Amino acid sequence: MMFAKFHTKSGDKIKYHKRSSVWPGIKFAEPINEPFIGWIIRNCKKIDFWRDTWATSIPLRECIDLPNHLWKLCKTKVSDFINPDGWNFPTDISLALMAMGINISSITCSPNLDNLQIWQPDIHGNFFIKNAFESTRTRLGTAWWWKYTWLQCLHPGLSGFAWILMNKILPTDDLIQRKGIPLVFICNQCGLTGESAHHLFSECNKAKVLWSWATSTFNIAAADENGLKQILDKCTTLSLYLNDLWITMVFSVSRWMWNARNKTRIDETKLTIRDIQNRVLREVENNAKLPKHGMYNTVSELQIAKALFVDCKLGKALVIKRCMWLLPNENEIKLCYDSSALRNLGPSGIRIVYRD
Ligand SMILES: [Zn+2]
Repeated sequence: MMFAKFHTKSGDKIKYHKRSSVWPGIKFAEPINEPFIGWIIRNCKKIDFWRDTWATSIPLRECIDLPNHLWKLCKTKVSDFINPDGWNFPTDISLALMAMGINISSITCSPNLDNLQIWQPDIHGNFFIKNAFESTRTRLGTAWWWKYTWLQCLHPGLSGFAWILMNKILPTDDLIQRKGIPLVFICNQCGLTGESAHHLFSECNKAKVLWSWATSTFNIAAADENGLKQILDKCTTLSLYLNDLWITMVFSVSRWMWNARNKTRIDETKLTIRDIQNRVLREVENNAKLPKHGMYNTVSELQIAKALFVDCKLGKALVIKRCMWLLPNENEIKLCYDSSALRNLGPSGIRIVYRD
């Protein structure tokens, strides 16, 4: 009824105003929902051949460029091309469908049953508001670093620092100056240049010494200035346990560099490189109880665990179990089967192997 009220007889939207409280909402939702609505074709009585989505993901009308007055004459229903045996297309329509890449024989048609309109993203084809919202909502691109900052192996305190570090909101001098607050602009650790997050965590002499110590502890190549992601990904070839410990170490080194900077400024006490290393090692040792993963039983991994003063979490030893396949008895048939489908209503296949 709504469709009839707001569309002309040829199926176009009306061009004049009619009062309605729900129509603006429907008009807004229609183009968003259209690609997700499909038909299971049986007798095709109600399906508009040109304007409904039935054979492809878009209505056929959108594949063909015709003036508006000619479209008014196109009132064909899909049921017009069905006889009791199935599809019955004239040659020119068959050719047009073929040109559009539609293989009509792949669409099943049962002339004795009613059509079914379905919501494609739902596995049973049912329309639910929750499902429609999930399928059509816009998803923002997520940040790359959440996988690192919210790891189970990190203590929540360290996770919190990592979050601030990744969002680049640590109140370094350059950031405070950019907010319009003038202050003296110098790195407390080396006293050579102005302080910025990039200088403090990678360029400063103290940072370079700490990073080379961290990488040598893990027996990996020195950290170059390629950004935090490359540094965090340096241990992906090691076991999950040591990879977790490396990520803990990276955040812990950054955190203690920041703490050392604050101590110099606020308490006027200086943390030496040895002090920072000891605190990082203590933090890594405390965090080492959190990862659930195991490590490989190799010499290099055991050496790293020893250098970090953490417990070894040896993986389970290999257990070889004997199993065998018994032949089926006489008059018995073994049946192996599997199937898969691409999206709802998409191409699907099934394969069965019988063995006697
Ligand atoms: Zn510096």
